[in-house]
Parts: sequence; C-alpha cells; structure tokens
Amino acid sequence: MKNHNRVIVVGGGIAGLAIAARCAAQGKQVTLLEAAPQFGGKVGEWRIDGFRFDLGPSLFTLPQLLDELFHDCGFNPQDFYQYRKLEVVTRYFWEDGSQMDAWSDHQKLEKELLRFSPDSLTSVKEHLKEAQAVYQLTEPLFLRRSLHKWSTWFNWQAFRGMLKAGSLRSFTSMNEVNAARFKDPRLAQLFNRYATYNGSDPYRAPATLNLIAHLEHDEGAYYPVGGIRMIAEALISLCQRLGVTMKANAPVSQILTSGNRVTGVSVGEQVLEADEVVCNADIRTAYEKLLPQLPKPASLIKQEPSSSALIFYWGVKGHFPELDLHNLFFSDAYQEEFQALQEGRLFLDPSVYVYVSQRLNPTDAPEGCENWFVMVNAPFLRPGQDWERMKEQTRLNILAKLEHRLGQRIRDKIVVEQVLDPAGIEQLTASWRGALYGSSSNSPWSAFLRQANFHPKVKGLFFCGGSVHPGGGIPLCLLSASITSKLMH
Ligand SMILES: Cc1cc2nc3c(=O)[nH]c(=O)nc-3n(C[C@H](O)[C@H](O)[C@H](O)COP(=O)(O)OP(=O)(O)OC[C@H]3O[C@@H](n4cnc5c(N)ncnc54)[C@H](O)[C@@H]3O)c2cc1C
Repeated sequence: MKNHNRVIVVGGGIAGLAIAARCAAQGKQVTLLEAAPQFGGKVGEWRIDGFRFDLGPSLFTLPQLLDELFHDCGFNPQDFYQYRKLEVVTRYFWEDGSQMDAWSDHQKLEKELLRFSPDSLTSVKEHLKEAQAVYQLTEPLFLRRSLHKWSTWFNWQAFRGMLKAGSLRSFTSMNEVNAARFKDPRLAQLFNRYATYNGSDPYRAPATLNLIAHLEHDEGAYYPVGGIRMIAEALISLCQRLGVTMKANAPVSQILTSGNRVTGVSVGEQVLEADEVVCNADIRTAYEKLLPQLPKPASLIKQEPSSSALIFYWGVKGHFPELDLHNLFFSDAYQEEFQALQEGRLFLDPSVYVYVSQRLNPTDAPEGCENWFVMVNAPFLRPGQDWERMKEQTRLNILAKLEHRLGQRIRDKIVVEQVLDPAGIEQLTASWRGALYGSSSNSPWSAFLRQANFHPKVKGLFFCGGSVHPGGGIPLCLLSASITSKLMH
C-alpha cells in the first residue's frame, strides 16, 4: 500500500511556500519547484543603485495568519520575523486639496473625522460595525473551509449563516451601499476603494466586500520589519528548517496524470514522481500549459480576470514630508476610472498610490533620497492594447498629478526608474493576463466559481494560491494553504 508521502509543490509563491511547510510539518517528503530564480512569487523585491523596492504587495493585514502557520509547524514566529502595527494606515489626498489620515486608533480616527467631515462620523461607525458583522459571518465559512465539500454546508454554522444571508448584501454593489450611506462623497470613495484590494470594481462588486474595511480599520494594518519581502524570506527559512527540497530555476512543463490519479511532474527532460501534487501556479495558466490532458472547467473560463497594475519604482532625490508610508491620491472621476479599466484602458486621471517603505525601513534608500513605489490600477492584458503608449501617457499624467499636489517638480528628481506593467507581471509570475488576484470578485457568485482546492476527478491533485479558493492577497493565500493542507491530511 502506498503511504502518500511524496509531495511536489509547483510554484514557490507565498501559498506554495506555506503549503510546502505545512506538508513537511506533517511528515511528508516535500519538493518545491519554482520556475523563477527566486522563491516568493509576487512577494519579490528589486535592488537598484542603493534603493530597495518591494515588488508587489505593500500592505500586510491579518498577521496572525502568518503566526498561525509558524505555530502549526512547531516554530516560534518571532525567531523568523517581526512586524509593527501602523499608526496611520493610509494618507488620502483629494483633488480639491483636502487630505485625511486613516488612523488605526479609533479615538484618533474619530478626531480626524470630526475635522475632515464631522457629519460622517456616525455613518463611518455604522459602516465599520456592519463590516465587522459581515466578516464574522463569512470568515468561518468562506475563508476557513473548502466551499466544495458537503461538510462545509451541513452544519450549524452554515445554517446560521444562511439565515443571515440577506445581511451580506450580495446583490447590491459596494457603491450603491456606500453612496447611500455617506453624504460626503469623499468617504464613499474611500470605502469604495477596498474593492481594489482583490482587483474588483466597486461599481459592480457586491457590497459584501465592504468587510475588507473592517480588516484594515479594526484589525489593523502592519509592516514587517525589513519590508514585505521579509514575509517570503521567513517562509523560505521555515521550509529550509523543515527539510523541504527547494529547487529554483525549475519550471514544470506538465503535471502528469494516469487515469484518475496524479503521478508526478515533468521538469525539462526529467520526470519526478509524486503521490500528491499541489499546484500554486496561476490556475488559468495551469490549465492552459501544465494540464493540457484535462478539460478546462467552464466556470473558470467564463470568469473575468481581476485588474492588473502599472507600477513605477522611482528612486527620488529629496525628502517629501507630506508623504506617509501608504498614500493615495484619488481621481476626481472614480467611476470613469473603473469604466476605463472595464474597457481595457488606463484612465487619464487615475488614482495614484504611493508607497514609501523607506519611512519605516530607512536603509531602503540612500541618504537624502526616498524609494517611491507608484502604482495605478490597470486593466488585465487584452489584444489590441498599446502598452508603450499607455505607459508613456500615464507616467506624464501621474507626474502632473503628484507635482500639482506636492508643489514640486518631481520629474527632475527621479534618479532611478524601473517599470512593471501587466505583461511584466505575467512574465515574472505566470499570472494569467497579468491579473493580480486571479479572477475578479465583481459578481455575487465569484466566491463559488473560484477553482476548488482539489481536482474533483484526479486523486492527489490539489491547488492553492491567490487564483483559487478563497482568493488573492497574502492573508487569503495563507488561508488557501491551510485549507488545502487539511484536505490533503
Ligand atoms: C502589484 C501587486 C500589488 C499587490 N498588493 C498586495 C497587497 O498590498 N497586499 C496583499 O496582501 N496582496 C497584494 N497583492 C497580491 C499578492 O501579492 C498575491 O495574492 C500573492 O502574493 C499571490 O501568491 P501566490 O502564492 O498565490 O502566487 P504567486 O506569487 O503568483 O506565485 C506563483 C509562483 O508559481 C511560479 N510558477 C508558475 N508556473 C510555474 C511552473 N510551471 N513551474 C514552476 N513554478 C511556476 C511562479 O514563478 C511564481 O513564483 C499584490 C500583487 C501585486 C502583483
């Protein structure tokens, strides 16, 4: 009898590293294969001329999920990384010259709201209370378990959830709820913004996603000492300590099956046998390239990819005290911005996000300089787009917006520049069409249409990561690995 001991993990993103660690901690013999020269996937970094930039994610929430992983594997997380809670989560700027700090401390936030928009205080409290209730209702069902097992649905918790399903507001858009709730359109815009945390559009995504505001405002936002990349570094160390065999520069060309069983993978000329294979590669890419022998699920093909991003990594000379760690310069025409993304275009006046990790990690930029990660939401890749023109135009639009708001000529102060567009994201991480979070959550059914964490017909074939259940973002990727490891155990 086989002991189901040999596991191969395809892809060393956050979820791939986490599942490799979990399987190794369960006593399995684990090999982790990564196509790129480095592990970590989207949680990468760039170092150029004394500047360090986090490549993709910049915001870290629910750190307890990372701690949970280390504890579950028998280690003390503090031996691997440290993180700090942010005092100001995001500094918001509007075109009319107004500005607001989203304090994590509730009393400070109240004071700021009384200054910024006194009439909105009660509505904000109401909104966050409702967001918390929705999170508490959905977390045990949608985030902690596989949606594709009967056991998830036949229990008291699920029954309770169904009784309260109306309160999830799945059939009303985020903007409909937020525009009705906040008299001040700037606050409706601020809370609409959370749709972008999973690459969705607030004018189409269900109001259920308002729960994301609870995570940031009540649970808090954090910063790992040394940068977001430290999360990947910590997971790499964990895998090494647990004896995972880790191979970089090892692109898997096919996941092999025989009848209704997985048998291993091929890497170049080599065939590696396995009892179980976990695919962390983007699910659409996986079905296109790694599993050509299996039919592609219709639900997967129909789904709209999440939005992508266009990022400028700028080493900037000078000091800009107006900027905090996370800064958002809103567009005046938010709905038009999302309409443009839906049509595959970049908007002329996009909302601009600026992340300056040097604020908390002084060595990220040389003396007298700052490292700016400047990002706008971008459409996923489609035929007919002219990215060279769009990048050139957007660069100028961003500069004009920031220069106007900060009152300085920034273009002359950029000493280092690197650009990442959707094609670059696809090339670096094999993400289908450069989508950041797999499929979007623009439909009330999105959560149910995401790929399950296992293949229904092929024994031993599992999936985890941001493009499968429960979705994208670092916390959800960690949950994905946790759900998958339970299914495998
Ligand atoms: C610009 C940007 C901003 C973001 N901002 C945030 C944020 O602020 N907060 C947040 O929580 N999340 C954010 N995210 C999302 C977050 O980064 C992802 O959801 C998460 O990192 C995905 O991890 P993953 O393990 O699913 O996959 P990935 O990181 O995509 O890793 C998949 C890995 O599989 C490898 N691979 C693919 N095919 C093969 C193959 N055939 N053989 C071997 N290896 C293969 C790839 O090389 C890659 O390393 C952001 C993402 C981006 C790009």
